[in-house]
Amino acid sequence: MTEPILDAAPALDFDLKSLPKVSLHDHLDGGLRPATIIDLAEAVGHTLPSTDPVALGEWFRESADSGSLVRYLETFDHTIAVMQTKEGLFRVAKEFVEDLADDGVVYGEVRWAPEQHLQNGLTLDEVVEAIQAGLDAGVDAVAETGREIQVGQLITAMRHADRGQEIAELAVRHRNNGAVGFDIAGAEDGFLPARFRDAFTYLAQHNFPATVHAGEAAGLESIQSALVDGRALRLGHGVRIAEDITVEFDDEDSEEGDNADDSIGMVTLGELASWVRDRGIALEICPSSNLQTGAIAGFGEGIESHPLDMLYQIGFNVTINTDNRLMSGVTLTDEFELLVETFDYDLDDLLELTLNAAEAAFLPLEEKEALVEYINDAYANLA
Ligand SMILES: [Zn+2]
Repeated sequence: MTEPILDAAPALDFDLKSLPKVSLHDHLDGGLRPATIIDLAEAVGHTLPSTDPVALGEWFRESADSGSLVRYLETFDHTIAVMQTKEGLFRVAKEFVEDLADDGVVYGEVRWAPEQHLQNGLTLDEVVEAIQAGLDAGVDAVAETGREIQVGQLITAMRHADRGQEIAELAVRHRNNGAVGFDIAGAEDGFLPARFRDAFTYLAQHNFPATVHAGEAAGLESIQSALVDGRALRLGHGVRIAEDITVEFDDEDSEEGDNADDSIGMVTLGELASWVRDRGIALEICPSSNLQTGAIAGFGEGIESHPLDMLYQIGFNVTINTDNRLMSGVTLTDEFELLVETFDYDLDDLLELTLNAAEAAFLPLEEKEALVEYINDAYANLA
């Protein structure tokens, strides 16, 4: 009983879950409920590693944590297998919205790759429509509980495949039916955004926004290509932009006991890092996922080595996200709690990170302003 409690609960005396949140980077096929996977797998005759919801949830988390990319990717084989029918897509999308709302999310963008859901003969347009119907039903279900949420689709092309143009056209075709942006996902290393240059040009010509996964499994070259070839308005993760930043501490400043605000030494940004910071390109940081996938391994070992704090302190447009809630076993509330525990973030920090996300949302200006006002009011009412 005399031992100090090292991992005390966060020093915040309010309910993190109830804070209004904005989720910009959350994969549909990485956020299913285990019980739903079991139901849908039974309906389509797909064999799972377990048919017990708790054990299956653990299997997903352990596989994602195993350090083996093969095991990590195998997790998506199971979620994608049960998302090949209109019924499956509808249910997953509807529950996705309900789960976001339960996490306090008031605006979310859900990304998914239509080309991965055609195994049973559905067309690209049919799968987008099935997802939109599910999202709409989810929004309605949330409204029935007296809450509000808005969710948009980020139509994603797989990097290892060759359907970028087709998927870009699909996204633009559905811009008035729920599609708010475009992304490329999957193996980053070896698959530069430049491979999709024509698709990104098509999107730009149609004034359709893109976020691009870059700076997660690959470094600065990938980020550069996302910005130049992809005309990315946001970077999926983007965390390895920190490789273009040098921080020198002078001896006196590096004494222990400095608080977080002045613990950053002399910071020098390369041209690419300057561009990303100075232009306010949003970084869709996913703390737990970044740790699991080794995206931040070059910066040190634990979550405390995540460069997100340094990036945030020196003015990058940092947003906080979950990536794959099932595989990482996290919610956005958990990720906020992690930041409070790790970096001593307070309410002002959480508000700033949330407003960053609201302002980076692929929404028209007037809707963004309304979202910002809603968030500001909710935080003001906490005081
Ligand atoms: Zn992602």
